[in-house]
Amino acid sequence: MSAGSIFRPDRIPSLSRLPKELGREERSCERCGRRTEHIFYRVPKKVMLLYVNDHPENLHATCVACARSTILTGEERERILGSSRGS
Ligand SMILES: [Zn+2]
Repeated sequence: MSAGSIFRPDRIPSLSRLPKELGREERSCERCGRRTEHIFYRVPKKVMLLYVNDHPENLHATCVACARSTILTGEERERILGSSRGS
């Protein structure tokens, strides 16, 4: 099984709605109960009729083993968003 098969960008009609990958890191997954690789995404949110990238719950970490997503907040969010800046 390849990790790429979990994500189906073909189901998202507009490119502006596509989550942007910010990086990958090993972290513990509640569902798997062990440390697995997670992909960090910045996820756009629909506000009124527009998609905005900048909202408090825009950072998701998705486990590559079970595809479960966690919303990251606080320091962890700041760290990941900060480290992706300028790339
Ligand atoms: Zn998992």
